[in-house]
Amino acid sequence: MKKISNWPGPKAKAVIDKGRKFCATSTVESDFVPSPDKRAKGAYIYDADGNRFLDFCSGVGVANCGYGNKEIEKAISDHLKKTGRIQYIHHDFYNPESVEFCELLAEEVKKSLNAGCRYKVFLSNSGTEANEAGLKLAFALRPERRKIIVFQGAFHGRTLGSLPLMGNPNYRKDFPMAYEVTRLTFPKTGCIKSIDSFKNELFNLELYGDEYNSLVIELLQGQGGIYFADAEAVALMDDFCFRHQVIFHSDDIQAGYGRTGRFLVSEHYPFLKPDIIALAKGIANGVPVGATVFKAELDWQETGRHASTYGGNALGSAAAIATLKYFKKYRLVEQAEMLGKILRPQLESLTKKYPGVVANPRGQGLMQAVDFIKEGRPDKELCRRVMEEAYRLGLILLNAGESGIRIMPPLVIREKELKQGLKLFDQAIFEALKSIAG
Ligand code: PLP
Repeated sequence: MKKISNWPGPKAKAVIDKGRKFCATSTVESDFVPSPDKRAKGAYIYDADGNRFLDFCSGVGVANCGYGNKEIEKAISDHLKKTGRIQYIHHDFYNPESVEFCELLAEEVKKSLNAGCRYKVFLSNSGTEANEAGLKLAFALRPERRKIIVFQGAFHGRTLGSLPLMGNPNYRKDFPMAYEVTRLTFPKTGCIKSIDSFKNELFNLELYGDEYNSLVIELLQGQGGIYFADAEAVALMDDFCFRHQVIFHSDDIQAGYGRTGRFLVSEHYPFLKPDIIALAKGIANGVPVGATVFKAELDWQETGRHASTYGGNALGSAAAIATLKYFKKYRLVEQAEMLGKILRPQLESLTKKYPGVVANPRGQGLMQAVDFIKEGRPDKELCRRVMEEAYRLGLILLNAGESGIRIMPPLVIREKELKQGLKLFDQAIFEALKSIAG
């Protein structure tokens, strides 16, 4: 396959240079600069120099319905043409668009979880806000309980309110913590050591269970490395929460909304009906929308407990309605499940082709990963080089955990595009190994 010569190209480099000068130092690690004028489509996106890329990360789990999605774009432009109103503060006035989205989403969650209760929705602008709204609901409900149960390796958001929930100590370093947490080992499916540690730690909390307000978990950790929580361990958490009246808060921000072949991650645990589900990323296909879905009985008892100028904005709600309708019309949840079944054997075959180098295929649907290892230990350098080589081959990849790479393309990717991307991934591994061998 032909390599992109001269990458990153001059136009990308110019943007990167300007960004370094004027944009706050943040988390930028990639030289991929999206094109300002060439239209992206489906799973393909162009860079500033006009090179075409297959996106195996969906802009970190955002473009689930693909780029250049005409039906969603039409819904956005129709909304603007009809109403001339980008926003009219939803938390002070009921907007038809945001109310409709809340209804659609609440009903979808109820159906997906096969739940008997009614759900309500708080709309915001991002994942971290969706989590914080969940925490505020729970603290308002039981103000005497100040502690939260969280997990190692978890990613829940970078604002101060979510920061104590974050597993990686580097993210928390130097910042004050707004409330107390107890951090448990994340019980990874198939990892007996982590499951045993978790069980012991949870057992040790039994005496103090009533001090805890909520348990916040990514049932499928994304940034932490694409690990599902073990089903038996989740049943223990669920039981603990039930007995001690602790709120079960599931962060579905990256793995929810169809990505794993289920609408919600909790559906992989048929006994589980979380009290709170935080959603964001792909729910409006890129227009910033966060949603905290919760059992109606948890609702604030008075007005003014929480709000946001742009939360539930009319434009975002129009995009979110169109996204949910698109999901159903094109059966994207089923599509993710079907494509996941094609993806897994291909990842397994890479572990056979590169024994001792590519390992641990895992995940489900279109959220899967493999690790890069050397002598049984994480090989961060190889992982970095594979991503570098992939860029040169026109493939965007995303790392996960210590030395993993996640495969998270838009859910609308075609089967042949998925297979084509996997061939590029294979070639990137080959080239990376060659470059290391020197
Ligand atoms: N929760 C999870 C599981 C995430 O993956 C992310 C972002 O990557 C967040 C929360 C934070 O979302 P946002 O960046 O929209 O605040």
